[in-house]
Amino acid sequence: MREVAIPRRMRAAVLTAPRVCEIRTVETPAPERDQVLIRVEGCGVCGSNLPRWEGRPWFKYPTEPGSPGHEGWGRVVAVGYGVTGVDVGQRVAFLSDHAFAEYDVASASSLVSLPSRLDGAAVPGEPLGCIMNIWRRAMITPGHTVAIIGLGFLGAMLTQLASRSGARVIAISQRAFSRDLARSMGAREQIDLNMTDEEIVKRVDLATDGAGCDVVIEVVGLQRPLDLAARLCRVRGRLVIAGFHQDGPRHVDLFLWNWRGLDVINAHEREQAAYVSGMAAAIDALVSGRIEPDPLYTHRVPLDLASEAFDALGTRPDGFVKALVHP
Ligand SMILES: [Zn+2]
Repeated sequence: MREVAIPRRMRAAVLTAPRVCEIRTVETPAPERDQVLIRVEGCGVCGSNLPRWEGRPWFKYPTEPGSPGHEGWGRVVAVGYGVTGVDVGQRVAFLSDHAFAEYDVASASSLVSLPSRLDGAAVPGEPLGCIMNIWRRAMITPGHTVAIIGLGFLGAMLTQLASRSGARVIAISQRAFSRDLARSMGAREQIDLNMTDEEIVKRVDLATDGAGCDVVIEVVGLQRPLDLAARLCRVRGRLVIAGFHQDGPRHVDLFLWNWRGLDVINAHEREQAAYVSGMAAAIDALVSGRIEPDPLYTHRVPLDLASEAFDALGTRPDGFVKALVHP
């Protein structure tokens, strides 16, 4: 086992109030039983970080150092008691909650090791694993017509995967920038989500000879795109809900769902093992070139400028898809 010097103190991002990110020097965490210590190379900024950044009445500030960074990758620098099969020096993507920091600890069972082919590559494991898990459950095959509603990082990556696998993708988004992006990811058609549902349904009917889509993936997380998604499915089509519906209960047109005999998939995972297997699938897809997310990492900033990454997430300027913070 190689020896690596580990400083007693490290730099970490701390949200001290809504929209205020400070870089503080704190104690470097020590790996406990079944944990490893990782020198963080980078951590993705996730849409789910936004409420923390903007502030909600029930959040307490300051946040714990490094929180809410959960899309980290880096190199193992120490292993805790009981850890087997993980070596110091190994490069990994990992699941944790404090990766906006120079060092973070993670459970050994949450790691996926990165092959040397990916040396130097950014590998935010959690969102890539999420994409592969949605992909697996969407069961898209060559020849399918697939509508994808919402073209952030997840929607754009699913567009790439589906197009490359031989499906015809109809990409639907409010932003012209995202629709252009979808075209570059292989989408055959792009539709403006600012049009009325009637207009969008008509466009999709025209494109599918009135049959509707084999699969529709909703990646927005709001009522209206969910309603629209169901309307775009063909009879016995598959409605895949990948959006995170957090702002209250939804009403669904169960008459329509019944009438069309839809298969409805909630493509969310809760088990750590499911995330880890999705991450492993993502590593395979990266190595084989089936997925190429790099053009979507549009904002890469050092830890000092983490607040710029959060800001971009909130304002979504044209050109923004996904931010990475490099401690
Ligand atoms: Zn995430």
